[in-house]
Amino acid sequence: MPRIAYVNGRYVPHRDAAVHIEDRGYQFADGVYEVCEVARGVIVDMTRHLDRLDRSLRELEIAWPMSRRTLEIAIHEVIRRNRVSDGLVYLQVTRGVASRDHVFPADAKPAMVITAKRTDRGTLARRWESGVKVITVPENRWERVDIKTIGLLPNVLAKQKAKLAGALEAWFVGADGVVLEGASTNAWIVTKDGVLVTRPADHGILRGVTRTTVFDVARKEGLSIEERGFTVEEALGAREAFITSATTVVMPVVEIDGRVIANGHPGSVSMTLRKAFFDVAEKTPVW
Ligand code: PLP
Repeated sequence: MPRIAYVNGRYVPHRDAAVHIEDRGYQFADGVYEVCEVARGVIVDMTRHLDRLDRSLRELEIAWPMSRRTLEIAIHEVIRRNRVSDGLVYLQVTRGVASRDHVFPADAKPAMVITAKRTDRGTLARRWESGVKVITVPENRWERVDIKTIGLLPNVLAKQKAKLAGALEAWFVGADGVVLEGASTNAWIVTKDGVLVTRPADHGILRGVTRTTVFDVARKEGLSIEERGFTVEEALGAREAFITSATTVVMPVVEIDGRVIANGHPGSVSMTLRKAFFDVAEKTPVW
């Protein structure tokens, strides 16, 4: 079955899907994106993802390429046409195509691309069971990482470094030694007293949709949360550590820079949060 992508109003075979060479996303990373999880035939937390897309677009002064309702229809259609029941849907909006000039073009129309793909739940489940390793890297990103832009070069380089070290994720650490977030995930620990700790979502990190829903899950489970920074040393002495994102949900971290956390196995709090996550998250059935 051929994969289908949505590109500026058309559903096209994925292998032929293309945008213009002067798309500002290609030339300036002048655009934003979202990734939503599709699990058991439902879109997870679509409202929160589209709310964040709206915020990212407003921050960059890019107009919505279509109405929110029309976008929802296109998302459903791409998932349906690709027969994805477990996987990911990717949306990207750029400022559009214009003759190369840094200033905003007067008349470019925002460009929209949507793709969907199946993911290997087996690999995910195995990682949930074993936990994953992370490395740390110095923070070298711009100050507005709260906007979900497609400008991800530091994240790309950090992830590659992680991969070469046999790790799944890289945590950006500030000059003050405080962990900010992962290259594509938010970072958490569980203290010896069972308190969940994650950095406040100001301009220094992306406010993960999964992070927000994990707050809801924690409340439901009667767990307390402290929004504050933690150092790598604190994480190494913690009862548990984990990362959250639409692609990993709640993923236990068992090693940081080659040093083992607790007994080196996933802990019970992250497992509880992961298992309760789907029940608490918003679920939008695919048509
Ligand atoms: N932080 C960064 C830098 C990310 O790129 C992502 C997801 O892509 C996240 C955190 C987690 O966000 P979400 O839970 O919305 O997937």
